[in-house]
Amino acid sequence: MIFLDNAGTTKMFEQCLEVHKEFSCEDFFNPSAVSIKSMNVFKQISETEKLFLKKLGASEGNVLFTSCATESNNLAIKGSLRAGNLEYVFSCGEHPSVYNVAKQMELEGKIVHFVPLAKDGTVDLQKLESVLNERTRLISIMHVSNETGAINDLKKISTLKNKLCPKAIFHVDGVQAFMKIPFSLRGLAVDLYSFSAHKIHGPKGVAGLYVKNKNSLKELFQGGGQQYGLRSGTENVSGIMQFRKAVELIDVSANLEKVKNLKAIFNSGLAVPGIEVLDFGGSPYIECIKFAGVKGETMLHALEENGVVVGLGSACSSKKAGNRILENIGFSKEDIISTVRVSFNAYQSNEEMSLAAKIICETYKNIKERVTK
Ligand code: PLP
Repeated sequence: MIFLDNAGTTKMFEQCLEVHKEFSCEDFFNPSAVSIKSMNVFKQISETEKLFLKKLGASEGNVLFTSCATESNNLAIKGSLRAGNLEYVFSCGEHPSVYNVAKQMELEGKIVHFVPLAKDGTVDLQKLESVLNERTRLISIMHVSNETGAINDLKKISTLKNKLCPKAIFHVDGVQAFMKIPFSLRGLAVDLYSFSAHKIHGPKGVAGLYVKNKNSLKELFQGGGQQYGLRSGTENVSGIMQFRKAVELIDVSANLEKVKNLKAIFNSGLAVPGIEVLDFGGSPYIECIKFAGVKGETMLHALEENGVVVGLGSACSSKKAGNRILENIGFSKEDIISTVRVSFNAYQSNEEMSLAAKIICETYKNIKERVTK
């Protein structure tokens, strides 16, 4: 099987299994207890936090460990809500774990702005500028789109924030960027940044939220006061340590070059009329492919039978018809219905890419023949 749905999830590094055993069966102690063994576990978590701050390029702040990026995004947004005549700003390209929170806030009577996307899939900066003002409490805009790979310019958004609403909180969903594309939060006006382990070959069930200023956030759960009182509950120690292992094993720049090369090999093999790569010029990890005259869903199932797994966009929303993000960029319903998402990982081989492209071409030709008969 050739797995081309790595934006949905990734295969875990086997080295994480050893870490899981170590922190579940040997160093299984509760990091909040006072025994020396517990304090050692707490120290390991603190060191992991420091490592992650370094990887984020953050010169100040903390990292909270959560159960998934959906939780990180919910904590970032709901923990930033305040009473009063305040406004909340989101892009139309957000993952459901942000977008649906924003929709709920709107239903509850909050002033919520959804900023549309430009043709390249990034947030329209002019439209963003037009909604920011001194009442803006929160801006939540993702770093890399999970649907198109489009990369938002955090520097430009930071400049707009500093100019128009310096007191606002800027949250970034960085799930498809962290440990995939090189970046640094240093010098940016980012206050909160979400990321997830299972997208970078770590385990499922553990994620992070970078918090620049602990006082800007309110906790969602009341409890034992773990993690600076912002995320009560005993930490998923084994998950955190496995996440750390995955981060330690990744070389972001080397992987990026590998993925660029894999993508080039894959795309060059798709030379069949009717197959079109929709390249948004963003992260090389993600692209969309349009199959003229054939439904993406039909292609997805036929490809799986032939040993290639692709995606239909965000795993959380892919069972729903349509694609809100491609629609916002301006694609027709017909184009959207014929589109699948392909996403790579750096540990795949050139041969796998050539073979996957060949299978995709053959599968498409077969289905097309049947459809037009
Ligand atoms: N944000 C983005 C951009 C994603 O791609 C995903 C996963 O698809 C999430 C958030 C949610 O991540 P998790 O599965 O860790 O909740």
